Amino acid sequence: MNPNQSSSVRQVDAVVVGAGFAGLYMVKKMRDDLGLTVQAFEAGQGVGGTWYWNRYPGARVDSQAYIYQYWFSDELLGEWDWSERFPAQPETERYLNHVADKFDLRKDIQFGTRVTSAHYNETAQRWTVTTDGGQTVEAQFLLMGSGGLSAPVVPPFRGYESFKGQCIHTAYWPKEGVDFKGKRVGVIGTGATGIQVIQTIADQVGHLTVFQRTPNYTIPMRNPKYDDAKRAALRTEYPVLKERVHDTFAGFNYDFTDRSFLDIPFEERQEMLQKLWDDGSLNFWIGGFREVFFDEKVNEEVSNFVRDRIRVRINDPQVAAKLVPSDHGFGTRRVPLENKYYEVYNRDNVELVDVKATPIDCMTEKGIRTSEGEYELDILIMATGFDAGTGALTRIDIRGRDGVSLNDAWSSGTRTTMGLQVHGYPNMFMTMGPFSPAAAFCNVPTCLQQQIDWITDCMQFVRDQGRQAVEATAEAETNWIAHHDEVAQMTLVHKTGTSWYMGANIEGKERRLIPYAGGANTYRKACDDVKARGFEGFALS
Ligand code: NAP
Repeated sequence: MNPNQSSSVRQVDAVVVGAGFAGLYMVKKMRDDLGLTVQAFEAGQGVGGTWYWNRYPGARVDSQAYIYQYWFSDELLGEWDWSERFPAQPETERYLNHVADKFDLRKDIQFGTRVTSAHYNETAQRWTVTTDGGQTVEAQFLLMGSGGLSAPVVPPFRGYESFKGQCIHTAYWPKEGVDFKGKRVGVIGTGATGIQVIQTIADQVGHLTVFQRTPNYTIPMRNPKYDDAKRAALRTEYPVLKERVHDTFAGFNYDFTDRSFLDIPFEERQEMLQKLWDDGSLNFWIGGFREVFFDEKVNEEVSNFVRDRIRVRINDPQVAAKLVPSDHGFGTRRVPLENKYYEVYNRDNVELVDVKATPIDCMTEKGIRTSEGEYELDILIMATGFDAGTGALTRIDIRGRDGVSLNDAWSSGTRTTMGLQVHGYPNMFMTMGPFSPAAAFCNVPTCLQQQIDWITDCMQFVRDQGRQAVEATAEAETNWIAHHDEVAQMTLVHKTGTSWYMGANIEGKERRLIPYAGGANTYRKACDDVKARGFEGFALS
């Protein structure tokens, strides 16, 4: 027993924060592969993370089901039947529940419990973790599966408290659902979430008012149902897919062409774009031309291709002008898939308010007041996003060596080594951390599994060496950040700079690309190289 340990405090090898895609896999790996004692804490009452909380109408995955899953168990792959190409939230939540049951993960997860602080004790080389229920647990390793898009943000509108109607952030959607029948409903936000909500509820509500600040480029989703024959065919591809996803830029099964856009004759490249478009997936974005991310001329042609396809779907040219993006290029912000989204604005019961032109002034007792007037609402839906990448971490009181809080450490600039560790925070590992592709530029399960496999190997290495702790060195961190920034600055995402990708949705947040833009494949190779060199850049003690 270490000197600072009190006998009443529960001791485990690893604390896992969260029971979503990452947390579940962490529990499995720690317990079944490394033989460690694990305690996971999950704020929700069930497993699922993102897929537990985001149960708003229309919530659905944008990656094809057959690559949005775990690869670690052939038995699981063989028995789970996906019903369609892009399953809705309840199906993904059911899948994660099935995984939790099948691998008996629940016994190591405490639900309805939020981790409030985690302090590193340098003498003991252990983390002291406390929860909102007043519990304390001590652990050698602290594993953050707390999510990259899990700290919801509600804009600080003046008069927020005065609103007499129902106000709901999409990430806190009530389990019992919401009755929209005959109601005057407002939606603030037209990101991936807002679009899914709007297209789903428009025909259920009495009247819908959409408050849009920035229109986004979208791609029409093609979502065929799967039958047994299709599922059987997909299963034959799993052995290839499970390797393939780690070998592509964005962790999908498709990847950029090596052909140069401008070397291809105009007609031919337009045909190529059309073919990608018709796939009805993110293939058009991350399976087409990589120059879209770097070359303004290429980006403009692709942007125009998309603008033309949006515009023709909207009857009123004035409404169309508001919905067609003009102030940024295609793919420089997250591109959502949509399903009959634009047709919503041809309905009589739907009104689009451009809150860039007529900004929201405040919330009132009755609804929303913009510079143009008041909109009366019974229900207001905040599809206003998240404090991405850093929010889930900085909302916990994490203190590393010398008691330095992560919040303070990052106040002068976010620092991570490969999004996996932060210098000064030994034995704390992150998934979906800033400066890794998992933070946004990756099919999430691909990158989570790659990161957790690497973390597991790193922890095994610490044990094999008979050591207690591992910590990214300051030098490795500086080098990774320099590389991250260099790649980021080459992209148009960096130049556009207006979305959560750049921290731009949070006032006062550092404007720096959160996800690593070098590709999931490049990143994986970099992680593998670090491992092959005995976890170079990570010091043991
Ligand atoms: P988001 O992309 O950050 O969108 C938030 C929306 O709220 C934006 O339209 C934003 O406008 C607006 N907004 C924020 N503050 C506002 C204010 N004060 N006044 C007016 N408008 C305001 O958040 P999200 O839609 O929740 O999506 C976040 C990420 O989650 C996505 O990018 C995606 O990665 C993931 N997601 C995935 C899926 C899927 O796979 N199917 C579905 C949903 C979400 P501005 O753009 O002008 O800031």
